[in-house]
Amino acid sequence: MAELRATMPDQAEVLRRMVDAGLLIPTGAPGVFGRGSDFEDVRVRFEALVESIGKNDGAEALRFPPIIPRQQLEDIGYLKSFPHLLGTIFAFEGGEEEAAEQEDLASRHQDWSAHQRMTDLVLIPAACYPVYPAIAARGNLPAGGIFVDAGGTYVFRREPSDDPARLQMFHQREMIRLGEPESVEAWRDMWRDRALDLLRGLGLDADFDLASDPFFGRSGRMLAANQREQALKFEVQVMIAGSEPTAVASFNYHQDHFASVFGLRTSDGEMAHTACLGFGEERITLALFVTHGLDVAQWPEHVRERLWGTS
Ligand code: ZN
Repeated sequence: MAELRATMPDQAEVLRRMVDAGLLIPTGAPGVFGRGSDFEDVRVRFEALVESIGKNDGAEALRFPPIIPRQQLEDIGYLKSFPHLLGTIFAFEGGEEEAAEQEDLASRHQDWSAHQRMTDLVLIPAACYPVYPAIAARGNLPAGGIFVDAGGTYVFRREPSDDPARLQMFHQREMIRLGEPESVEAWRDMWRDRALDLLRGLGLDADFDLASDPFFGRSGRMLAANQREQALKFEVQVMIAGSEPTAVASFNYHQDHFASVFGLRTSDGEMAHTACLGFGEERITLALFVTHGLDVAQWPEHVRERLWGTS
C-alpha cells in the first residue's frame, strides 16, 4: 500500500540522475527527452515482452502513425473532455510576402502564428483511437469479437512538467478488445491480473487502483466521479519519484462509447463494447531504473532474465 512505501528521491533528483547517466537527454523543452541506448534497450525489451504475451492470445497487430484526422477526434468528443491536452497541427498558408514576414518574426523569436492555419490533422493523444473506425469499416465483428495489438505508438499530451515521469510525448503500448460486453469485461479482468504479474515479475512494487481521467473543467469533475463510480478506469501504479505513486498502466472500459461513434456492432448486430489497456513505456522504463539502479548490468538476475533472456 502507498502509505507504507518509502518516499522516493524527488522528481528533480530522479531527473538529474537520469540525465547525468546519459539515460535521458534534455532537448530544452520540458517533458521532451531523447533516450540513451540503455534506456531505449530496456523500453524496447519491455515492449517485446508485452507483445509476446499478446501473440499467444491471437492478437491482430495493427499499426498507425502518431497523427490522426482531426475529424476523428471531433467525433470522439475529445475536445469536450481534454481540450487542455490536445496538440493541433497548424501549417503555413500564404504567398512569398507572408513567408518573408513569418521568417522575419521567427528569426527574432516573435509570434509568427499569423499565417498559420489549422490543418486536418492532430497529434494522436491515445494509441487506440484509430483502431475503432478501422475495425468498424470491416462491418460487424466476428462472433466473440476481436483483440487488437496496436503496438507502442508515440502519443502527445500537452502537459509540460519537470517531472521525468510526465512527458509530453511518450510511447503508449496499447491493446484493445472489441466485442460483446461479457467478453470485453472478462478480457479486462484477465489483463488486470496479467499486468500486475508482469510488472511485479520485473521487480516493481506495483499496485492496482481505481482511477479517473483528468477531465477538463466543472462538468469534467462529474465525468470523473461517474467514471470512478462505475469502475470504468483502473490503473497500475508504481512509486517513481516523490511521495505519490505514478500510474504506469491503465485500463479503460468505454462501454459502447466508441462503438456508437463509429458504428461498431457485434456479430448479432448489437452495439459492441470496447476496452483498452495502455502501458506507459517510458514510465515503466524509468521505474525500472529508479528501482534497480542506473547500471543495467547490476540489475537482479531474475529481472535481467525476463528482459534479455538467459543467453
Ligand atoms: Zn486506449
